[in-house]
Amino acid sequence: MINDKHVNYFALQKACEKPGCPICDIVNERIDRYIDGMLFEHISDRVFRAQYREAGGFCNRHSQALLSYRDGLAVAILGQGEISEKIEDFKKKKMRKYKMPCPACAEQERIENEFLQFMAESGKLDEADEKELISFVTKGDGLCVPHYARLVQLMGKKVPKWLVQFQETKFASLLERTNRFIDFSAWGKQKQFEALPPEDKVVWKELAANLRGNIQ
Ligand SMILES: [Zn+2]
Ligand SMILES: [Zn+2]
Repeated sequence: MINDKHVNYFALQKACEKPGCPICDIVNERIDRYIDGMLFEHISDRVFRAQYREAGGFCNRHSQALLSYRDGLAVAILGQGEISEKIEDFKKKKMRKYKMPCPACAEQERIENEFLQFMAESGKLDEADEKELISFVTKGDGLCVPHYARLVQLMGKKVPKWLVQFQETKFASLLERTNRFIDFSAWGKQKQFEALPPEDKVVWKELAANLRGNIQ
């Protein structure tokens, strides 16, 4: 891995330089590209059309995203199949069940798992690359709660120590600051509240963002 560092490595590095959870950032960028590509190429792709059909279309969130691309023809072609099936079902008075997940959600999960696993397997890199990866990850904001939860679920005890320590310290500090915020919000503690650093006066925003993540 000297000249041809893995694409994931650079994507992760770039995402860690931005505020917020790097996996959320990567997912937002890749799903955007996925839907864009889907509209321009896969709309005529039989595999994609079959996936889309078996899922009964996109979920609410991704249907909403689809509309933002303003490709009316693609939305019409996809919707045409959906409404036709619904009309058939209405006539039979029996609604079919869809067994497959939303294709964009499935793609999102694939991307999340790929990058989380890549982070967890930092020990497989060259020593210098691993050092650099640890450095840029720990200089960033770290994973949001849902993505760290997924990582733990996925890798269990295989999550490397440096990452466990970084994330757990981050969450513990967030809890401590939240406790202080709640405590100082009580009547009679206005002075202590006023003395809080500006970011601690709005720690609830940071807490909510961490608990929810930033997937668009
Ligand atoms: Zn995240
Ligand atoms: Zn979806």
